[in-house]
Amino acid sequence: MPLLYKNKEQCCGCEACMNVCPREAISMEKNSRGFRFPKIDDELCIECEQCLEVCDFQNERIDLKKSPQVYAAIHRSEETLAASSSGGVFSALAKLIFEEDGVVFGCGFNEKLEAEHKMAKNLKELEELRGSKYVQSKIGLTYRRVKEKLDTEQYVLFTGTPCQVAGLKSFLGSSHDKLITADFVCHGVPNQDFFLDYASHLEKQLNGEVVDVKFRDKSSGKSQGWSPAGTIVYQKDGKLREKFLGPQNSYYFNYFLREASIQRRACYDCRYACPERAADFTMGDYWGVKKTHPEIDWRGGVSLLLVNSDKAEQFIPRLESRLKLIDSTLEKAMAGNKNLTEPIKLTVKREARMKNWQRGGADGLGREFFKNHRKEYIMSEIRFLLPDPIKRLLKIALPQFIKKILVR
Ligand SMILES: Cc1cc2nc3c(=O)[nH]c(=O)nc-3n(C[C@H](O)[C@H](O)[C@H](O)COP(=O)(O)OP(=O)(O)OC[C@H]3O[C@@H](n4cnc5c(N)ncnc54)[C@H](O)[C@@H]3O)c2cc1C
Repeated sequence: MPLLYKNKEQCCGCEACMNVCPREAISMEKNSRGFRFPKIDDELCIECEQCLEVCDFQNERIDLKKSPQVYAAIHRSEETLAASSSGGVFSALAKLIFEEDGVVFGCGFNEKLEAEHKMAKNLKELEELRGSKYVQSKIGLTYRRVKEKLDTEQYVLFTGTPCQVAGLKSFLGSSHDKLITADFVCHGVPNQDFFLDYASHLEKQLNGEVVDVKFRDKSSGKSQGWSPAGTIVYQKDGKLREKFLGPQNSYYFNYFLREASIQRRACYDCRYACPERAADFTMGDYWGVKKTHPEIDWRGGVSLLLVNSDKAEQFIPRLESRLKLIDSTLEKAMAGNKNLTEPIKLTVKREARMKNWQRGGADGLGREFFKNHRKEYIMSEIRFLLPDPIKRLLKIALPQFIKKILVR
């Protein structure tokens, strides 16, 4: 039987092996920490070894492209910009593909809040693919569906993590004129079970049902704009309500973003965390743009856009009608975005967080987080609980009050 990997850190979970298997002998199974790994059914396996050949993470089959053109990009439509995590590059690319009667693949939540790859045929269907979901998306048989579309000469935009784009390309083997790929600068992915356990922990705290988690939401938080903050949408007493989600009050957000301690093991050795890319386009948040491009109005969100291939370059004139494109450089982009040059760092915290989760579940992690981040946590909860008029009043009155005390 083929040996898919020697150690678990050698599998990024892109699911290319499952898609390529001609006998449906490979399925994805969870390990004890909820990460999904391919497993071969020895009764069905014919030992053709296509599963071994297709693995780009271990074999480096796909040529990573060098010397991208670099832009800061901002969608010209305020509405689209507001609905996007960064500067709205994804929506601009998708619109182009729909104009060619093509289809778009990306990640959306299903009704059980599981992140999975889906296909959109129009702008309405695109809505659920917008927004970053900080959890590993299930690919399922998406690569086969992409191939079916390409075989009928349709344009396809495939978006996903860098390893998913490499997985798709390796699965397809040959290049396709009508396939456009876009990956993003990636901070790694936690798993679905860990996320769902967090959601049920929230439900206990909120005494309601969590119906959506927007990891990035420009209408959330104190700054109300482009920032790493999101919103939990939940139902309570028959009403839809919202709660601020950020690294201050959420162990999930904090451990993902600040500690990078809950991601898949392979993410810490990611071979795609570099300026050379597998995809035609690379999207990202242009963090640091305030310093590197002080001329730009960044408040609504700014994307980093890398144009990695000749094919991608041909789309630039058409993209310009939807995106404000400002020339930039790789040096400037790398200054504010570490994961463009190196993977997230593995520290002892990962083992500790995973063990604590296995021992005490989400509630245990919640308690641990509260103990270590008490002040920050309480402040953010107070902000959430206070009615808006009181918050506004305090914003004006509090500085004056402090000033008075200091003068005395
Ligand atoms: C797990 C994760 C980690 C990221 N890490 C970084 C980072 O370190 N630095 C950085 O600059 N940017 C990072 N990003 C990218 C950034 O958050 C935006 O997704 C990106 O800039 C696109 O924004 P947009 O405004 O163009 O589009 P949006 O409309 O926000 O579109 C989001 C795009 O991401 C795809 N997507 C969302 N969630 C997933 C998922 N779980 N798996 C696969 N595809 C998904 C969607 O299909 C869509 O193509 C990350 C995104 C994710 C999902």
